[in-house]
Amino acid sequence: MSGTAESGSRTWDVIVVGAGPAGMFAARSLSGKLSVLVIEEKSRTGGAGAMTDGKLNLSPQIGLDLAELRISEEEAAERIGRIDEVFLEHGADRTLYGVDRERIALWLDRVSWVRRRASKGEWDITLLPARQRHMGTDLAHQVVARMTESIAKRGAEFLLGTRVEEIRAQDHGGPFLVRTSKGEFASRYLVAAPGRDGAYWFREAARSLGVRTRWGAIDIGCRVEVALPVYDEITQVLYDPKFLFITPTHGDRTRTFCTNPGGRVRVEIRNGFRLVNGDALKRRKTPCTNFAILNTVSMTEPLQDTTEMGRKVMEFANFWGGGDSLVVQRWGDLTEGRRSKAETFSSAALGYDKMTPTLPPGPGVTPGDISYAYPGRIVDNLRESLLLLSRVIPGVAHPSTTIYVPEIKFYDTKYPTDRHLETEVPNLFVAGDGVGKSRGIVGAALNGTLAAEGILRKEGK
Ligand SMILES: Cc1cc2nc3c(=O)[nH]c(=O)nc-3n(C[C@H](O)[C@H](O)[C@H](O)COP(=O)(O)OP(=O)(O)OC[C@H]3O[C@@H](n4cnc5c(N)ncnc54)[C@H](O)[C@@H]3O)c2cc1C
Repeated sequence: MSGTAESGSRTWDVIVVGAGPAGMFAARSLSGKLSVLVIEEKSRTGGAGAMTDGKLNLSPQIGLDLAELRISEEEAAERIGRIDEVFLEHGADRTLYGVDRERIALWLDRVSWVRRRASKGEWDITLLPARQRHMGTDLAHQVVARMTESIAKRGAEFLLGTRVEEIRAQDHGGPFLVRTSKGEFASRYLVAAPGRDGAYWFREAARSLGVRTRWGAIDIGCRVEVALPVYDEITQVLYDPKFLFITPTHGDRTRTFCTNPGGRVRVEIRNGFRLVNGDALKRRKTPCTNFAILNTVSMTEPLQDTTEMGRKVMEFANFWGGGDSLVVQRWGDLTEGRRSKAETFSSAALGYDKMTPTLPPGPGVTPGDISYAYPGRIVDNLRESLLLLSRVIPGVAHPSTTIYVPEIKFYDTKYPTDRHLETEVPNLFVAGDGVGKSRGIVGAALNGTLAAEGILRKEGK
């Protein structure tokens, strides 16, 4: 792999901004056919999640908005199959979850039995079976390194440790002049795949090029940690079970997301704030399982700015944690209407000794009260979702269950594009989570291949 591209020396056919799954799969499809320069701020490729946990969602209903991408489920499934092959070729674990039809049918039965007991239309719980693989944080980086090497062998150049500061267009439609921390580069086409990290930087860059954007929904939620045996029964069948809820009080939509059996709750720093996330290693397991419950929030009047809403929620939750801290609370305390405290966090009398969280109270993780730290409607939704889930998996509502906030997924800026993700500015393509077109590794990779095909079509290749 090289990092030798020199600024100002030539006009590339394509510059790809960001070496996450979207950028890498775009580069993979383009390399060998056109000259490609991938510019990545980090000193490594793989983006956000390819290096952390690496669950590969192989079902078209997950991690993609088919309507937004304007592709059919059949087409998505076929494309996902090809992306899966690429991960396997580069060493991803072959174990496939979510294929044991008999055991899945038992789970679907259990969920539908619970649903039938509900008063009609008042609330809902659904299970969406998904096929998945798990690379693991410890092994995903090897897969990514092999993939990067093979893309470089096909001729693409990677310029790592280089931040794109500004994008200008010589004319409407390019060539594009890309100013970076290591000089200026030019290209005929540009694929922007900045991920959630670069989403707001790119939004400004795109607007300055004349691209219109709009606000989409944002996902605000919490990370839930339970003792491993509580969730084992389902995660052995569906690695990352996707439960969808309609909440009783508000009729809002929530869902489980990013389950990590035997995993760890992690801190994610975003724009100087602390968020919670989770992952799992392939080789070393903890006695706990964590997953997120996310509440999808859209806004209409008087505000549509979901980005600012998410930022304010994140800031306030950190403030409530003591300035720059997550808030963590035992479910037993939340349901009793009291805050969690360091002195009672492991109290045997309260049943809290049954599960030792993988991210216990300490610097940056403050025991407290989520009902103070988060908007009321979201707290209602998260509580009610966990209670609905406990009708299917009773142990999740044990008093020792631990809830962390804030967990927020910023994929809230939407870009009008054509079917190949070309924006209203000709030759400027977008791909991945940062531009609201995917919500996961495989979805982002699929975006990258769509953008690449768009460019190849324009080139008549
Ligand atoms: C802790 C964690 C665990 C996750 N686990 C999973 C999982 O198990 N399964 C799953 O499907 N998804 C998971 N995800 C989500 C997954 O990481 C993303 O959906 C996916 O990586 C999105 O791909 P992307 O290419 O759109 O963006 P990213 O992977 O974020 O890549 C974008 C890249 O662009 C670079 N960049 C941004 N701005 C600039 C700039 N100005 N100049 C140069 N470079 C720039 C960034 O440094 C980054 O490397 C996880 C995320 C996290 C944070």
